[in-house]
Amino acid sequence: LIAFLLYLFYLVAPIGQLVQGFTQVQNGLAAVQRIREIEELPAEEADGAVYQVGRVPAGVVFEGVAFRYGDDRPVVHDDVSFEVPAGGLTALVGPSGAGKSTVFALLERFYEQRAGRIAIDGRDIADWPLAELRACLGYVEQDAPVLDGTLRENLVFAAPDVDEAAIRRVLARTRLEDLVSRLPEGLETRVGHRGIMLSGGERQRVAIARALLRSPRLLLLDEATSQLDAVNELRLREVIAEVAAETTVLVIAHRLSTVAGADRIVVMEAGRVRAVGTHGELLADDALYRELATTQFLLPT
Ligand code: ATP
Repeated sequence: LIAFLLYLFYLVAPIGQLVQGFTQVQNGLAAVQRIREIEELPAEEADGAVYQVGRVPAGVVFEGVAFRYGDDRPVVHDDVSFEVPAGGLTALVGPSGAGKSTVFALLERFYEQRAGRIAIDGRDIADWPLAELRACLGYVEQDAPVLDGTLRENLVFAAPDVDEAAIRRVLARTRLEDLVSRLPEGLETRVGHRGIMLSGGERQRVAIARALLRSPRLLLLDEATSQLDAVNELRLREVIAEVAAETTVLVIAHRLSTVAGADRIVVMEAGRVRAVGTHGELLADDALYRELATTQFLLPT
């Protein structure tokens, strides 16, 4: 029923116009719509859309980017410049409202910056055909929803043509094999609202698996804020490290274990880049980062 309602709302209601007070529904809808918009691309546009190891990772550059959501809205980004090298793990951190999610929205071209340049592989994203741009991006939202349906449906939702071998590779990559073998009907087990409930850690890995099945060259990951037990924390860290070994990962990080393993960390504050460095460098040099590390990031490494 929930899936049906979501679908109905998705059909009839532009997300931005949903009434306030339905925040819960709205968040679910926004998530579903975003997954669809980004991931529901024709297979040929998504470069085969089959999980391939070794697609060339993408590099990203922000140069003097300025942005606000509307003329009457406060400035979100002011002269934001940073680089995400091709391959490896780059973490975005900063207090709430610093503009981290907006970096993702600009990269996905849901909005256009007011000034400055955003380039992927040296090419201004404004010049990319939208389908091509989104075919090279994978997006995993915070506390990703599991849709009402089988685990398989949840995985292949955005890449229906993937073969069994690709699914198996992704299950291994995301440490979901144990879950599949535990479920009574394996991949065909119904999960989500009307089926078996998955833990927060499993949900996030299912969302990562769903994104990986499209072989993104740049994975945008908004890390879940839900607490994870030690095993799930370790698994997530391993999965992110392995994915970052073969593609570029830009993560809005909420976990100490993620930032500690990042190749570089971009610290944002009030719409500006405040510092860039490794965990060790920033702990030594940046007071805000030190504060975030001790008060906001979840769980020790
Ligand atoms: P958080 O960690 O809380 O998600 P953030 O660092 O990701 O914060 P953003 O979500 O990018 O920050 O928000 C930056 C600013 O832009 C905030 O003041 C926020 O209220 C505003 N903002 C975000 N999305 C929109 C939107 N769709 N329309 C208008 N303002 C928005």
